[in-house]
Amino acid sequence: MAVGRKRLADYGLNTERILMEKHGPKRDEPPAFEAELGNLEERLMLTTVEKALAWAQRGSMWPDTFGLACCAIEMMSIVSSRYDVSRFGMEVFRSSPRQADLLIVSGRVSHKMSAPLRQIYDQMLEPKWVMAMGACASSAGMFNNYAVLQGVDKICPVDIYVPGCPPRPEAVLEGIVRLHERIKAGVPPAYELRKAAQG
Ligand code: SF4
Repeated sequence: MAVGRKRLADYGLNTERILMEKHGPKRDEPPAFEAELGNLEERLMLTTVEKALAWAQRGSMWPDTFGLACCAIEMMSIVSSRYDVSRFGMEVFRSSPRQADLLIVSGRVSHKMSAPLRQIYDQMLEPKWVMAMGACASSAGMFNNYAVLQGVDKICPVDIYVPGCPPRPEAVLEGIVRLHERIKAGVPPAYELRKAAQG
């Protein structure tokens, strides 16, 4: 029987029976009553508002349409039937940043493009996330020169980096899944962690 991580007493249930037994036959085992019930939270489908919100955000994350260079071709292919990003509730690429949750920066960012990119990021409503897709978006890759921004995290907070030149669609999907895991675990977006939402 699955045993919950929290004791029933941690949920505020102080029945006489729970108070009677502090632990099972061994000190690290739960009392018999708790062992019978197992994970009460999962069995009764109890949850918190934060968990429900995180679940909804994770399952309906819409990416912004923002292709910059060769990486964008790989990004576009994630909506194809072969990779089918709709399995993760993400097939609806939005052309308006106001309707998008995830900015996938796919390709090198020239200095000339930095201001529009930041503007699009600012126009996205919170909560919002940013993926730096590929070597160029993450660190400028091979373009160590005056024309290219040396990493998109210089102008907006990045939640997840996907390596590669270009990353294959499978790598983008893995980045998306890992981002979903972070959201499900309650990790706040990068702008909250870095206190850099607007600026
Ligand atoms: S990482 Fe490679 S594929 Fe992607 S934009 Fe840069 S050069 Fe092109």
